[in-house]
Amino acid sequence: MPADLLRQVWGFDGFRPGQQEIVETVAAGRDVLAIMPTGGGKSLCYQLPALMRDGVTVVISPLIALMRDQVRSLREAGVAAGALTSGNTDAESDEVFAALRDGSLRLLYMAPERLASGATVPMLRRAGVTAIAVDEAHCVSQWGHDFRPDYLRVGELKRALGVPLAAFTATADAETRDEIVARLFDGAAPQVFLRGFDRPNIHLAFQPKDGPRRQIMDFARARRGQSGIVYCATRARTETLSAALNAENIAAVAYHGGMEADQRREVEARFQREDGLIVTATVAFGMGIDKPDIRWVAHSDLPKSIEAYYQEIGRAGRDGAPAETLTLYGPDDIRLRRTQIDEGLAPAERKEADHARLNALLGLAEAISCRRQHLLGYFGETAEPCGNCDLCDTPPEIFDATQPVRMALSAILRTGEWFGQGHVIDVLLGNATDKVAARGHDQLPTFGVGKAVPKGEWQAILRQMLGRDLIRPDPERHGGLRITAAAHPVLRGEETVTLRRDLIRRAKPAAVIRT
Ligand code: ADP
Ligand code: ZN
Repeated sequence: MPADLLRQVWGFDGFRPGQQEIVETVAAGRDVLAIMPTGGGKSLCYQLPALMRDGVTVVISPLIALMRDQVRSLREAGVAAGALTSGNTDAESDEVFAALRDGSLRLLYMAPERLASGATVPMLRRAGVTAIAVDEAHCVSQWGHDFRPDYLRVGELKRALGVPLAAFTATADAETRDEIVARLFDGAAPQVFLRGFDRPNIHLAFQPKDGPRRQIMDFARARRGQSGIVYCATRARTETLSAALNAENIAAVAYHGGMEADQRREVEARFQREDGLIVTATVAFGMGIDKPDIRWVAHSDLPKSIEAYYQEIGRAGRDGAPAETLTLYGPDDIRLRRTQIDEGLAPAERKEADHARLNALLGLAEAISCRRQHLLGYFGETAEPCGNCDLCDTPPEIFDATQPVRMALSAILRTGEWFGQGHVIDVLLGNATDKVAARGHDQLPTFGVGKAVPKGEWQAILRQMLGRDLIRPDPERHGGLRITAAAHPVLRGEETVTLRRDLIRRAKPAAVIRT
């Protein structure tokens, strides 16, 4: 029967991966948490069961425009659906209330803000609501950037109506999942579905920053005429980049949270409508963008976590045609992201989890084999080398870096874990700068032990050490580098470290590091 409905109502020949099990479980009235990548086809997973069950299914969604779209297309397919949002005219709302009263409505879309009104629960009870579906369920997470306080009321709604709930999100990390379970299901375990995270048409690539503006410009120039997004860490950078692109007659427009709401809506509409426009944006740009033919996504700065990375690159190539990505990263990014976590308001255990999610992304950035294997592995899926990432295209040269890594760790320890990269490298190279001399660091046994390695290589090694979380900048010591627990086995000689022979093009011709 689900397959018949799928054909009759939606005109689809079959289910996408994962859809059928979710549909059957939701239709059977079980509590469900489904984690599906963007574009995976989650709406069907609550719309179809709504037609298989008696009564009304309430759909909570944060995006008015998408709700209205879905209602329109359901109605065109002959399904009695309606929405109660702040965008309704009185006549529209009256029509929905009438359909609720006479029992003809099957799907009721509602913005979470409605739940703040005391009249809503009794109204839904009278209407015979038999199930709740929650779209973008990660909005219930207080520590995510999409937090919607009214989502906290969804759990109360479930309790008040005593009906099953199906929650959907594309955010896959375990902490967010736990928060969703705690807040929407009162901690009672729903059936969890997690799958289908591979987006094989998206090419994955990372590069260390080496003149980031030029790197992004080169990437965009080579893709002239294609729609793309450049994610930037700051509002200012979105502006300077769009100006630089426009100066080369590449149509680009900036987007960030500091712009007026109607300006932002205008950019969204232009991007949706125009071919070949580039939006240079902060992460404020994205949720609710439903453009299937975005051909590329670039990050001019490192995203904040592996989930954020996945979600942002996932906006490319939703039509299934080849799409490309490029993510730039450098030691300053790593420092910035660590500081943002440390200075944030989250409780200590959440901060540790955020560092771990950043580490997962850095591990991906510094990976030495197929990136997709790493990425999918993080989401709990196994895969063969993909043949569609930069590391599959060109396997990197790697070397046993245990000895230089131990030299660097030792220089950091002996200078008291108070100094940044530049000073540590001066000590390693034996540069008797004023600062080095003033601290007496030219008297240390590590002074000059790394002379044989050029500065550019030390920079690459330290960056990779940051990426492996062997060392971390300490916000309480002005970003002075400290050694993490992960470095202890290396110092004790119990573990070796393999690094990439890098990549920093401006470095002098690579000196061989003898190991
Ligand atoms: P998301 O998971 O991002 O909410 P949607 O539910 O909007 O994804 O679905 C993405 C697209 O995939 C839509 O255009 C939808 O019509 C299409 N789709 C969903 N399920 C199927 C299916 N079984 N067969 C073909 N197309 C499908
Ligand atoms: Zn690969």
